[in-house]
Amino acid sequence: MRTLILTKEQLDKMIAHAKRHAPLEACGLLAGRSAKVEEVIEVANQARSEVRFIMDPVEQLRAFERIENEGLELLGIFHSHPKGPETVSPTDIAEAAYAVTHVVIACTGGDWTARGYWIEGNAFQETPLQII
Ligand SMILES: [Zn+2]
Repeated sequence: MRTLILTKEQLDKMIAHAKRHAPLEACGLLAGRSAKVEEVIEVANQARSEVRFIMDPVEQLRAFERIENEGLELLGIFHSHPKGPETVSPTDIAEAAYAVTHVVIACTGGDWTARGYWIEGNAFQETPLQII
């Protein structure tokens, strides 16, 4: 089981980013060391869609360079589901391109929650997010 460790501030930053862009999906990258997130990097959703996200390729490249320059590794990709559900969608599974934790920031019934998933092939399983 791959646990991802986040601070409350990092969680709040992801949720604030998601709220700011709702009803459109928002996305970004999580960089860190071992399982501990050190940076939440917001990336524009080029799809400008309520049901999917495509990371702006220029911003994504810049973020990857920053992660490498800082000696960090890509630990996760996060995106929002402003109208739920809390789980990854079939599109998310089909388009998952990196072997990292996929964090879904979902709004269901007015509450924003964060859950982590590991996607492999056509399957996914939940992975714990440890908030410290
Ligand atoms: Zn999604």
